[in-house]
Parts: sequence; C-alpha cells; structure tokens
Amino acid sequence: MHDQEFWEICLEHFQKLLPSQQFNSWIKPLGYSLIDAKIIISIPNSFTYKIFQERFLPVVIDLSRKYRNKEPEVLLRIDKKFNVTTHLDKLENIRTVSVKKETTFLHSSHLNSNLIFDNFVTGKANQLAHAAAIQVAESPGHIYNPLFIYGGVGLGKTHLLQAIGNAYKTVTADAKICYIHATNYVSDVVKAFQTKKFDEFKNYYNSLDLLLIDDIQFIADKPGTQQEFFYTLNALIDANKQIVITCDTFPKEISGIEARLTSRFSCGLTVAIEPPSLEMRVAILLRKSSGSLNPISEEVAFFIAKHVRSNIRELEGALNRIEAYSKFHKRNINVELAKEALKDLLASQNKQVSIENIQKTVSDYYRIKLIDLLSKKRNRAYARPRQIAMCLARELTHLSLPEIGNAFGGRDHSTVLHACKTIELLRNTDSTINMDFNLLNQTLRG
Ligand code: ADP
Ligand code: MG
Repeated sequence: MHDQEFWEICLEHFQKLLPSQQFNSWIKPLGYSLIDAKIIISIPNSFTYKIFQERFLPVVIDLSRKYRNKEPEVLLRIDKKFNVTTHLDKLENIRTVSVKKETTFLHSSHLNSNLIFDNFVTGKANQLAHAAAIQVAESPGHIYNPLFIYGGVGLGKTHLLQAIGNAYKTVTADAKICYIHATNYVSDVVKAFQTKKFDEFKNYYNSLDLLLIDDIQFIADKPGTQQEFFYTLNALIDANKQIVITCDTFPKEISGIEARLTSRFSCGLTVAIEPPSLEMRVAILLRKSSGSLNPISEEVAFFIAKHVRSNIRELEGALNRIEAYSKFHKRNINVELAKEALKDLLASQNKQVSIENIQKTVSDYYRIKLIDLLSKKRNRAYARPRQIAMCLARELTHLSLPEIGNAFGGRDHSTVLHACKTIELLRNTDSTINMDFNLLNQTLRG
C-alpha cells in the first residue's frame, strides 16, 4: 500500500462516518505522513488534538490494523502550519507528542463504539460466549463474576469485551467503565510504582463499576502486576462489580501466572470462542459487506471463506483488500477479481498441508512414534491421536476418505469417517481434545 493510500482510506472512512460539518472541521485540516513506518498526524491546535486523540485516533489505529496489517505507531503533533510533507524529511526534526502520554490513571473508558453486540455475528463457535456476555452486560456483578472469555487470535474476544462495555453504558450512562489491555494495565502499575501514586491507582481501579481487561496473558511473569491485579479483582468482586477478562487460553493453561489468580479467574464462568465454521465465515463476510456500496455476492463470500480459514480478523482483511482493489481498478467485485486481489494470499496457501506433515506433527505433539500412529494398534494412546490426525487430514487436505485411509496403513474409508465423527463429538464434550485439535489445526495452517 502506498503511503498516501492509507490516509485516503482513512479520509473516506471518516467522511462516511461523520456529518460533513464535523468532517470538515476535525478531519480535513489534518496532515498525514508516514516515516519509518510511523504514522504522523499533524493537527492544527491543541483543542483538535484532544478531540482527535479521544474520538478519532482509535479509529485510525483500527484502520491501520485492518489495511496495513500491523500494530501502528502513531505520532500526533501540533503544527500550526500543517504543511506536513515539506517538514517531515527527517524524523529527528519533528517535535512529536507520543500517543501514550497520560500521567494519571483516570483513563477515558476506552470504549470503541463500533464494537457492539448488534454487529457481532453469532454461530456455534461463539454462541456461549455471546450469551454469557449479554447476560453480564444486562446484570453486571451478579451472575458470572469474573466472566472469563478465551480463544485464539482474531476470533472476537476484544469485540465481545467492548460490546459488553458499550451495552452497559447505554443503559447506565454514568457507570464507571474501564476497558484496558493488559499491557496498559502493566504500564499503570509501573507508573504507580515510579510516581509513588499507589493510592491513586487503587482508588481508580477499585471505584470502577465494570472492568474489562483484555489479553490477560500479558501479565504473565510480572509478579508485581499480578499482586495488584489480585487485590483489584477481589475488591471488585466483593463489591459486586463486574470483571470480564479475555485470554488466549483457559485459566489453568496460562503459564507464568500465580495459581491464586488463575483459580480466581475460573471461579465465575469460563467460556471459549472457537474458530468459525465455513458457514459462519460466509455469514460474517456477507454481514460485513452489507453496509458497503457494492455488497459482495454469496458466491464471492464462499470463495473468500474457503480460502481464509484461520480467523475473523484475516477474513475482514481479505474483504477489505478486495473492496479496495475493486475501487482502485474501478471494477465490480466477482470471484475473478477476488482471486486477483488475494493473489499473494492464495499463492502462499497453495503450499497445501501434506498428509505426511499432519502425521508427523500429530505424533510429535502426542510424543508417540510415527510408526505407532500408522499402525493397527488399538489402545487409546495411539487410537485417539490417529483419529485426530485423520480428522485433520479431512479438513486440511483435498484427499478423499479412501486416500486418507490408505495413508494410515491401508484403512477403510468408513474407519476415517468414523474417526472424524468421533472427534467431532469429543470436541464438544472434552475440552482437552478440543484444545489439542485447535492447537494442531492452527499449527498446521501456519
Ligand atoms: P481477538 O480480540 O479475539 O483477537 P477481535 O475481537 O479483535 O479478536 O476480532 C477481530 C476482528 O474481527 C474485529 O474487527 C472484530 O470486529 C471482528 N469480529 C470478530 N468476531 C466477530 C463476529 N462474531 N462478528 C462480526 N465481527 C467479528
Ligand atoms: Mg483482542
């Protein structure tokens, strides 16, 4: 993506989002430039600076994640001339104001009003988490406390967390809500240490009505932070104030976090979000594109969903790329165009997962010999991994059932089918098997 292209996308986005008067006064006067992968935004005065930082910066960050596919570093600077490009030859010459500059703990709620229940598509993969989130938003502090939501990247944990905050805010406007990413929580603790403002820190967190803390795995190996969080958690729960936590694994699996904390995590309700099925991916794509000028057809949605399987963030990324491609080339979106727009992605996927790779990865994972995995031995220690491997082969390769059976020491196609059904059932009832399967699946997909 060219330097200027990203800003054009931002401008277009804001133009759609805002009434034209607001667009003209807040967004139009801004300058943009990209230096050493840093986004630099020049702002005419400190008033606009504040507004921008609060309201629009999160949107720019979000768009950058979507279109530039990375965590952005954004520098805001106040520049009365706002003639950016001529002044930004060398980064050293700029007086920049880093985005992270709060000195007190009185954050704004950090809620992103785009992440709401209304635009959260549900399916088997997330319906439990979704139902729990709604209940918690409706009567916080009283049903499940804490609510602990876990799952892999890009599956909607942050979206749900934010949706809870937004829903609660609409019914209780004066509620004190804080959404915070665990890394920022860690910074707050460090800041409290450095500035000896522990009382202020405690007062702030203990006074919340709703604490939404994202990606808690980031407090691993930080005992000081864990201790503070333990106190906060207890104080809020005792006061019937709701806490919602997200994480990349379930509580017992997080390494580097004290046992007293992880056991506290699981004393409310723990729910998983899983990778979406093909149908759900299609539904999400259709939903996401329904608001655009040229919504995609079901055929295109299926095409994308078949090729982008890992998570919803990548699904959105692919859709955005296709929409941008169609706009720049002034062509309608069809499967042909989608293929072109996703050329790089498809090329990397053509390196199909081989059945040998699946067998090796599964036997390594379960620490059994490959020869045993392929043997006819029936004891559970071999049979279960074998069934998982067969099931993965069914999902990840284009091989037919007989071909898969053949690759597993000459078995019948019905054995493979039986294996797939067994694993499918077990995944619903046995969380260890389900986690093993998801881990292997993600590893193999790279
Ligand atoms: P995580 O926090 O689990 O890594 P996010 O919540 O950031 O994932 O989700 C990634 C992107 O996918 C976000 O843009 C989010 O809005 C979108 N998304 C995730 N789940 C859904 C869903 N069920 N319906 C609609 N959009 C979703
Ligand atoms: Mg997240």
